[in-house]
Amino acid sequence: MMTSRTDPDSCPGVLRTHEAADGPLARIRVPGGRLAPDQVQALAAAAQDLADGNIELTSRGNVQLRQVRDAAALGERLTAAGLLPSASHERVRNIVASPLSGRVGGWTDVQALVPALDAGLRAAARLADLPGRVLFTLDDGRGDISGLHGDIGVHAVDENTYAVVLAGRDSGVRVGAAEAVDLMLAAAHGFLELRGEQWRLHEVPDGPARLTDHLLATRTGLDTTAEPLEIAAHHDIPIGWLTQADDRVALGAGVPLGSLPARTAEFLAAVERPLIVTPWRSVVLTDMDEWVAEQVVRVLAPMGLIFDANSPWLQVSACAGMPGCAKSLTDVRADVAEAVHTGRVIIEGTPQSALEGLDAGQVVAAGRQHWSGCDRRCGRPRGAVTDIIATADGYRIVPSS
Ligand code: SF4
Repeated sequence: MMTSRTDPDSCPGVLRTHEAADGPLARIRVPGGRLAPDQVQALAAAAQDLADGNIELTSRGNVQLRQVRDAAALGERLTAAGLLPSASHERVRNIVASPLSGRVGGWTDVQALVPALDAGLRAAARLADLPGRVLFTLDDGRGDISGLHGDIGVHAVDENTYAVVLAGRDSGVRVGAAEAVDLMLAAAHGFLELRGEQWRLHEVPDGPARLTDHLLATRTGLDTTAEPLEIAAHHDIPIGWLTQADDRVALGAGVPLGSLPARTAEFLAAVERPLIVTPWRSVVLTDMDEWVAEQVVRVLAPMGLIFDANSPWLQVSACAGMPGCAKSLTDVRADVAEAVHTGRVIIEGTPQSALEGLDAGQVVAAGRQHWSGCDRRCGRPRGAVTDIIATADGYRIVPSS
């Protein structure tokens, strides 16, 4: 369905917070999900001192703080930590990249492209006009990121070549590794020319085809192919012990409902290794030797981080719900936590049949499931997901189709 935008883009940032039902919410862009240890520590301290004590991980690998008490002080702290490098461009730095890239698997290291893409976005004054919803994707060929249906992306097809992905589909255009960042920036400029009032490329009539034509007309040396890649949504969260190409260890850790307590984040920072926030509400702590990785699991598993790929927590996601959202009919996060703790989230099983009018304690569902406090289903992941939706008459279960 084509949407016509009449209201302004209201994506929150740090300098413009969102008035949630439980107070101001600040969203902090983390290009590529890449955080240095001192940045993790700065976020933990800010969550503790200026917000509700938790760092929320978003479905774009960004982070947000709720109940912010002093946005100006938050802005100063984040600027000092290098997490707010541009006032004008803060909300356009939406870049997701294959989290394990350069360390485990993949054709090439797309994480290495993130700083150049981020710098290129910030260097172009006009690109500050991009809607805050525009998403840039960098997939190293394993297929974990292109399926997120970003607006402008590249997807490695071999060590030196990328497919150009527009609105989540292969455009057929191929570009060499050295030109990939420039081409994405050119596509961002092209989108601004085409977009009219729309926020996302897929909302623009024939947007991907018109943007492809624009790129082919304005840039030389682009190759096209008749065999587009099939791009699908993956649910392949990196969890547990991962041996890197350099024989060091990365640890993938699920964060229940994407809410990372500041105290846990302080422990992650204390390991003094780079941390990557994934778009699946998990983190990857990288570049450890085995002894350090063993200590991390020993300390952080009891604090609630998930290192077991078979945990039911990895099957569930939930919207903000009550009290963060005024539209919510219930405290959906408390309900889903109770479902996990009482064994009603089943990892594998017969898909749930459609039911309605259920009390929270009656909901039992197998496989991936998203719980929502109302019919809008905010934050619902892509792909086959059972919806569990609060209504005025109790929960309704809508099986994945
Ligand atoms: S799904 Fe409904 S209740 Fe949940 S965050 Fe969105 S609007 Fe609020």
